Amino acid sequence: MGNVDLKNLSLQEMENLISQLGERSYRAYQIFEWVFQKDAGDIREMTNLPLKFRNSLSELACTKRLPITDKRVSKDGTRKYLFVLEDGNTIENVLIPDEEKRTLCISTQVGCKLNCSFCLTGKGGFVRNLKTSEIIEQVLSICREIQENITNIVFMGMGEPLDNYENVIKTIKIMISPHGLKIPARRITLSTAGIVPGIIRLAGENLKINLAVSLNTADNETRDGIMPVNKKYPIDKLLEALKEYPLPPGRRITFEYVMMKGINDTIEDAKRLLKILKGIRCKINLIPFNKIEGSNLEPSHPESIEEFQNLLVSKHYTVIIRKSKGADIWAACGQLRSSKMTIKD
Ligand code: SAH
Repeated sequence: MGNVDLKNLSLQEMENLISQLGERSYRAYQIFEWVFQKDAGDIREMTNLPLKFRNSLSELACTKRLPITDKRVSKDGTRKYLFVLEDGNTIENVLIPDEEKRTLCISTQVGCKLNCSFCLTGKGGFVRNLKTSEIIEQVLSICREIQENITNIVFMGMGEPLDNYENVIKTIKIMISPHGLKIPARRITLSTAGIVPGIIRLAGENLKINLAVSLNTADNETRDGIMPVNKKYPIDKLLEALKEYPLPPGRRITFEYVMMKGINDTIEDAKRLLKILKGIRCKINLIPFNKIEGSNLEPSHPESIEEFQNLLVSKHYTVIIRKSKGADIWAACGQLRSSKMTIKD
């Protein structure tokens, strides 16, 4: 068995590999479909490829699977999965079933460089980027587990997706490809802390996916304090890039706003937010802060969240208070990984 993991290859790279082996390029589509649609565990299963070709491909390549090493099911239906990677690092995913929708929250890095004060992932520092195969296999492996397809993807798990740009973009292209996972681009949301050059580059790809931005405050000084990335890419630069983002008709940028007591949750904060959002087609997700170990930040009072919401709504913004799901299974960012759990089955 060769060590080129087919799950790491774009369609183009698959074509290149195949032409090296002297086969016609349409074979790339067939292999893509075996790997990403039929979830073949072995190249020998790819029965519409000539036997000789399967053998030569096997000598070069393989398909690897990521085992789920732990899972938790919350009373509200949210599921949390833990994966151990080949090098022993761990990552996690959250699956949120909601009527006909199954949304999977996936990770793009082990750890994170950005060190936002409210985020547990950042506390452990940065370890490494995930490979495309490791990002896409989170989806495949959970489909295998639940025996159903995933309808929506959010890049809101561990890590900063735009800080692992190449691998994340390659993954998204596999996700939206008619030969890949066939997930419509409008059902994929990439969430960023605001890496401006990444946003500009992503805009140029014109993938038509949704963009979410963890804004958390409209005040630069406060943002510098809770999100160090703001010192490099301050709010005005961020908004400038967002104004240029090619939104398909009817679509909006999502601003995520983690509500933290005494930090960003007053009516003054809401007014400042209104001011800076002028002219941007957007909606706002207010996220009650999930308390994390090693920080004395507190969640906002539910009444402050409601007042904050009311003011924005009175100015005709769409504002959703994101329910905290899976609190009983530590579904909040990084918490499964950090809790010392025994590995079940
Ligand atoms: N790096 C990306 C994606 C990971 S964070 C980003 O910053 O968007 C995904 C979302 O979880 C962000 O909106 C972030 O603000 C939020 N988040 C992080 N820690 C949180 C916490 N302790 N409580 C509530 N939301 C949190």
